[in-house]
Amino acid sequence: MDIINILPDSVANQIAAGEVVDRPAGAVKELLENSMDAGATQIDLVVKDAGRTLIQVVDNGSGMSDSDARLCFERHATSKIHRADDLFAIHTMGFRGEALASIAAIAQVELRTRQHDSELGTQVVIEGSHIVSQQPTVCPAGTSLSVKNLFFNVPARRNFLKKDSVEFSHIEEVFRRVTLIHYDLGFTLSHNGKVVYDLKAGTLLQRIAGLYGNAYKERMFGVEEETDLVKIRGFVSRPEFSRRTRGEQYIFVNGRYIKHAALSAAVERAYGDLLPDHCYPSYFIGLTVDPSKIDINIHPTKTEVKFVDEHALFAILRSAVKRSLGQFSLATELSFDTPEEFNLPPAPKGYVPPAPHLKFDPDYNPFRASGSQTKIKLDNLERLEKIENPENPEPLVPPEKTERPVAPAAGACLQIQGRYIVTTLSSGMALIDQQRAHERVLYDRLTRCSGGQPSSQTLMFPLQCRFSAADAEMLGELLPDLKQYGFDLSPLNQTTFVVSATPTDLKEGDLQALLDQMLTDYKGSTMQKFSHRSESLCLSLARQMAVKAGTILSQEEMQQLMADLFACPMAELSPSGKRIITIVKPEELLK
Ligand code: ADP
Ligand code: MG
Repeated sequence: MDIINILPDSVANQIAAGEVVDRPAGAVKELLENSMDAGATQIDLVVKDAGRTLIQVVDNGSGMSDSDARLCFERHATSKIHRADDLFAIHTMGFRGEALASIAAIAQVELRTRQHDSELGTQVVIEGSHIVSQQPTVCPAGTSLSVKNLFFNVPARRNFLKKDSVEFSHIEEVFRRVTLIHYDLGFTLSHNGKVVYDLKAGTLLQRIAGLYGNAYKERMFGVEEETDLVKIRGFVSRPEFSRRTRGEQYIFVNGRYIKHAALSAAVERAYGDLLPDHCYPSYFIGLTVDPSKIDINIHPTKTEVKFVDEHALFAILRSAVKRSLGQFSLATELSFDTPEEFNLPPAPKGYVPPAPHLKFDPDYNPFRASGSQTKIKLDNLERLEKIENPENPEPLVPPEKTERPVAPAAGACLQIQGRYIVTTLSSGMALIDQQRAHERVLYDRLTRCSGGQPSSQTLMFPLQCRFSAADAEMLGELLPDLKQYGFDLSPLNQTTFVVSATPTDLKEGDLQALLDQMLTDYKGSTMQKFSHRSESLCLSLARQMAVKAGTILSQEEMQQLMADLFACPMAELSPSGKRIITIVKPEELLK
């Protein structure tokens, strides 16, 4: 009895599909890569139900001819490889002409495409590898590819999908990996009708801010290095913005995202003692290496890679990051008169801190770039200017070390309109927004990764707060975070929580309203601004706990606030990026 069958193409394609597209995020990756290969400058990704019902990628790239629009779904159909030799010339991407064939085998696909010099485009509908229709159509130049009902004919895979939040987070991760490296292209991502990301073409730092929130602009130091072996460019987080989980850690090699334990370790080692225990830095680092120094026998769709000169690479990367941290962080920490209890990060071995002394430049305006040679620089304020002035390119190269002024933090204070605090600094008179200042102080206190006990006050009369079932469930998930900030909440039933302690910084106030607002902020921000919930929570809490404009402060309260503020590394900006301090120079006062 003969028992061997030749599998029909459609079945072979379905099987092959499993390798490329094991979940919606896999299809997203392939489609985004195709659009970039087609030279698109704007790519829009539309997703419904975490990609289960729809994944659509619209690009303004080259488009395809009539016959290519049909051919592209064939197995081994590719415009990127002509001879076997070509395989060796392509070191980064896996071009095998399999992606579209695979996707078409397991979904209902609609392609609309038009080349820029043709008047009419082509529409192809294909379902489970069978062409349903092909006809001319009027459509924009470029390509739109919709993948509907992924795995409609592969129930086993469909049933294997995780819940939407998980599948969507995989899609977001693919989107981040692609967009972080292609920051020179515009991208959008919408999910269920809501725009989650709208990223304009720009610099890497702008892209990071677009993905993780503007606050990231003030959290990053630039890293740059060029040797014969490798070119390094990227950003690493300031030590005080490290986090308890390994979060945003991205290394790209020759434009491709990779995981590499040794390179990650190189970055973390560079921080040395600057990182609190159990805290991890965020980093976005691109390496460019000669492709011949990479082992190309590694599977093209995998994220592993081997380097010929791994040890050298490790050392170069570590020292580049170390240099960047040394140049920036020591500098900012020393920029204000540091109160006794504030811990300076340990200085690198052999570093002798300069005795603080004051130079005064009457022409210096911290809010304007000056050409003066003897300028006193407040790095913080300069950064502020860059943030507010987006035409200014972000500094990739660390600014040179300069003299730093000493700011007496606890001079006499004056309150104006229950809103601003006036005090004197070495560089002039400072006008400080009290609410924003307090937000900064509280935020830094909440986010500090000390791992120490949060300062908490037990309520004499525990309070009950009620929530909708959905909010209560979400709050339940946030309890461990809230505990870190000094709250003690325990569920009483499905919708009610008992609050028995609150952070010491929380004066009186409506606790129910505070928690409601925190949940609202959290729901609104998880996807758009912050990928990590603690930032979103701390931002909301700091904003709500801060003294409001109109609150009259005593002299002691103001002095305390000033001392606390100037102990913050980012004293000049509120956590949401608004200016806190304005300085009026002595000669302006003279006028
Ligand atoms: P590969 O990318 O490995 O060549 P794919 O199956 O992903 O294989 O795509 C097959 C071919 O279809 C590509 O080589 C390209 O010529 C064409 N193609 C796919 N997507 C697009 C697009 N968005 N714009 C223009 N051409 C495309
Ligand atoms: Mg492809």
